[in-house]
Amino acid sequence: MLLTITTTQHPAADLGYLLHKHPDRLQSFDLSFGKAHVFYPEVSQDRCTACLLLDVDPVGMVRGKNRNQNFLLGHYVNDRPYVASSFMSVAISQVFGSALGGRCKDRPELVTTPIPLSARIDVLPVRGGEDFVQRLFEPLGYTVEATRHPLDEQFPQWGESPYFSVTNTGVKTLAELLSHLYVLIPVFDNNKHYYVGNEELEKLLAKGADWLAGHPEKEQITRRYLKHQSGLFQEAMSRLIEEEDSETVDTDSPNGGDEDVMERPLSLNVQRLGAVLAVLRSSGARTVLDLGCGEGKLLRELIKDIQFDQIVGLDVSMRSLEKAQQRLRLDRLPQRQAERLTLMHGSLIYRDKRLHDFDAAALVEVIEHLDPPRLAALERTVFEFARPGTIVLTTPNREYNVMWESLPAGKFRHADHRFEWTRQEFQAWANTVAERYGYTVRFLPVGPDDDIVGSPTQMGVFELE
Ligand code: SAH
Repeated sequence: MLLTITTTQHPAADLGYLLHKHPDRLQSFDLSFGKAHVFYPEVSQDRCTACLLLDVDPVGMVRGKNRNQNFLLGHYVNDRPYVASSFMSVAISQVFGSALGGRCKDRPELVTTPIPLSARIDVLPVRGGEDFVQRLFEPLGYTVEATRHPLDEQFPQWGESPYFSVTNTGVKTLAELLSHLYVLIPVFDNNKHYYVGNEELEKLLAKGADWLAGHPEKEQITRRYLKHQSGLFQEAMSRLIEEEDSETVDTDSPNGGDEDVMERPLSLNVQRLGAVLAVLRSSGARTVLDLGCGEGKLLRELIKDIQFDQIVGLDVSMRSLEKAQQRLRLDRLPQRQAERLTLMHGSLIYRDKRLHDFDAAALVEVIEHLDPPRLAALERTVFEFARPGTIVLTTPNREYNVMWESLPAGKFRHADHRFEWTRQEFQAWANTVAERYGYTVRFLPVGPDDDIVGSPTQMGVFELE
């Protein structure tokens, strides 16, 4: 099987630097399943082509494996040596590792420059219908040419094979192109040659970091990449959904006037922040706690509003606090602004004097991350000891989960959720807590409010009696 990469960016021979492979030499590499060869059939200043040829050894591959299977011949007679599959991805990462990682010691400026590239794959097995190739590559900005091969040219009556020659053309960095191929080639084939575990999930999210969350086929890609393992699939999807959400927050800042932005349906994340802010504003609070502030999405909105003159974000995760610090660019804010905000490391299950004497507190999507005994400790920390006048608290409404196609029945939205409550469960808990600590509580839906299952997020607003 052959992967052919061509550029017409002048001087085209720079492709050699980007791939870390000298255009004048044929180089061969031993891999666990055979050999890979890299060579350049064409090198000029206007056009340069590099080939990665894989020579899979079907006999070597099964040597030493458990032979206790019925169809032994299948070990030896199969399409693996001839098609681009997960072997090709392994070869890309081993032979073109630096290029895939976007590293180029000698010419670092080349790595970040998008250049005209085309990649031809001979041959790609595609399980998933005629237009699947287009559906996966086109959203990434490629022009796609796919030619399907007949099963046997001598016997056209046998019909078409699942094998295609595919050429993608686009203006990309080489690292982008390679990461797209690395992830997607095994997705077409849907038949990975090795065990898939947590490590694969991390690889998928790392290699897909810049593009997977926004890809319209992300579910199908993720499901196949992770070999249909539902636990891994779910975790990947919830992380991708979070990523997409936070990207929307980044671009949706309300500067007004842009019709595109105005008409785009608001993401749940943005609606939730809006609802929480509205409650905090109307409470008249001047000093506010954001408990379990995470990466600081709410803090960023709070700091824009001069009503709030003392804002504290607290979280148990140092990593989240570091991200919040970067995201808020605290070091670049004018001193008077920066003084209004403090980030604190701490846990809500311990009484903490630093949290006393605030007008209001927000707990946005936090309680569902705590085991029930810890939740009881959090109740005391927040409602008994910190005791702000207003507490606004949000949590997922489990009833709404059926509305998300990507979420298998009975599963939570995030792998770290310890529980997700129905509206009745949440209200029962909130009423008990309110009564115990002398608060009143009212409930508001956040997001589209369905007649039967309610809204995706539920919010409780507690006020000191
Ligand atoms: N409020 C943020 C983050 C929600 S995720 C947002 O809406 O984006 C839940 C957050 O709660 C995480 O950042 C997690 O680190 C934090 N958290 C979990 N247990 C906690 C505890 N015991 N004390 C403080 N923070 C906690």
